[in-house]
Amino acid sequence: MKKLLKCSACGEYTLKNVHCERQTASAHPPKYSPIDKWAKYRRLEKFGKE
Ligand SMILES: [Zn+2]
Repeated sequence: MKKLLKCSACGEYTLKNVHCERQTASAHPPKYSPIDKWAKYRRLEKFGKE
């Protein structure tokens, strides 16, 4: 499975792990969903304190 990576030095998208002699970073960082996170706390607050 190919993973798109991005060079932090030149900003180019690549499939290589190293570009410009630097390690590339994932172009698709894991999604953070603060909304879901807060929804979880809200749910705890709403249903956990009965
Ligand atoms: Zn580069």
